[in-house]
Amino acid sequence: MTTHSTDRSFLDWPFLEDHHRTLAADLDTWATRTLPAIVDAPGAHDDVDTTCRTLVKALGDGGWLRYAVPKAYGGMFDTLDVRSLCLIRETLARHSGLADFAFAMQGLGSGAITLAGSDAIRSAYLPAVAAGEKIAAFALTEPEAGSDVASLSSTLKEAGGEWSLSGEKTYISNGGIADFYCVFARSEDAPGARGLSAVVVDADTPGLEIAERIDVMAPHPLARLFFQGCHVSADNLLGPRGGGFKLAMATLDIFRSTVGAAALGFARRALAEALERTRSRQLFGAPLATLPITQERLAEMALDIDASALLIYRAAWTKDSGAQRVTREAAMAKLYATDQAQQVIDKALQMFGGMGVTKGVKVEELYREIRALRIYEGASEVQKLVIARQLLAGEQ
Ligand SMILES: Cc1cc2nc3c(=O)[nH]c(=O)nc-3n(C[C@H](O)[C@H](O)[C@H](O)COP(=O)(O)OP(=O)(O)OC[C@H]3O[C@@H](n4cnc5c(N)ncnc54)[C@H](O)[C@@H]3O)c2cc1C
Repeated sequence: MTTHSTDRSFLDWPFLEDHHRTLAADLDTWATRTLPAIVDAPGAHDDVDTTCRTLVKALGDGGWLRYAVPKAYGGMFDTLDVRSLCLIRETLARHSGLADFAFAMQGLGSGAITLAGSDAIRSAYLPAVAAGEKIAAFALTEPEAGSDVASLSSTLKEAGGEWSLSGEKTYISNGGIADFYCVFARSEDAPGARGLSAVVVDADTPGLEIAERIDVMAPHPLARLFFQGCHVSADNLLGPRGGGFKLAMATLDIFRSTVGAAALGFARRALAEALERTRSRQLFGAPLATLPITQERLAEMALDIDASALLIYRAAWTKDSGAQRVTREAAMAKLYATDQAQQVIDKALQMFGGMGVTKGVKVEELYREIRALRIYEGASEVQKLVIARQLLAGEQ
């Protein structure tokens, strides 16, 4: 069991409250005790479907998924507390990328239901998400529409008082193991962002097919989905017709800061690994840590980690303090924390020399884990556009 002690002084920042400090400590203890038996079990990395199902169940049993849904439906708080979500993702990512993934997808995958589902739909899905009994997924991206969300071409057509869903979605996390998908598709004649709506679709709906499983550099359940005339009840509509783009963006507004938090967890773990290695590795007759260039790099890593943490907990606190939207703050947090975590992890890996690129060594795993975070939920370039547009519109 590894302890990988990391700086905890950020927990005393005024952005956080006492219950956050308790949460961070309790989850760290739980993760240290519970996760190794799941994520380090023989074959755990090869069979990510089984590992993720086990993780969702364990997170549900531990009560942690209650933070992913509102109180009225088995959750912890009246509305999602972004600081708690960030602390949980940061802590889990420090222990295991897959554990963070399993937690994050329960929140992101059910986020549109939390924000816009009817009471009946919320009651049907959210308590099961909180208990770890239903696995959630968020299906927005299409083969021809990733960064350009407004160009989605999947269709939702009204037919006899219900919806018929057709089209293709790709790079869908939890694709293949999810019990339901929140799907965004074009329901109206209106062009671009105005014509989209969202529905919840059960995984066993006839016409829904897992067309392809996608194998990525840091494996987790991921798939391309095919919908062919899937019948979806009118009750499964999330929010108003034509409100799908706004709903997708509002969902991402909450979870974008948490992607930064996961990156921060990876970066903290990389720094902890680097400190341990450079203290013990003897080079030129002294520990690697005594060399000035090593110290310069360690200082840069610590600085980037603190700057990322400030942006993340600023964004989370702003949202929790009642801001309707935190588009700029969340974009800055996600952009900076994911880009800097990549640098921090790269520096840590370099300090390990040949061992750093060896399979099974933590920094090698972190190097693979961090990469996708700079792409999904809005690539770094998209975040820059978002920030610049807000500046130019005077909405700072
Ligand atoms: C591991 C993983 C998990 C994912 N999980 C999900 C999921 O659960 N649900 C879901 O709906 N989607 C998911 N995605 C999809 C993800 O959101 C998209 O990959 C992402 O939005 C980018 O879309 P794209 O891949 O089509 O790339 P494109 O849209 O083709 O963009 C390619 C590149 O162009 C650059 N770019 C983009 N916009 C601009 C710009 N304005 N100016 C300059 N350069 C730009 C960026 O570098 C970008 O990476 C996942 C992706 C990955 C890799």
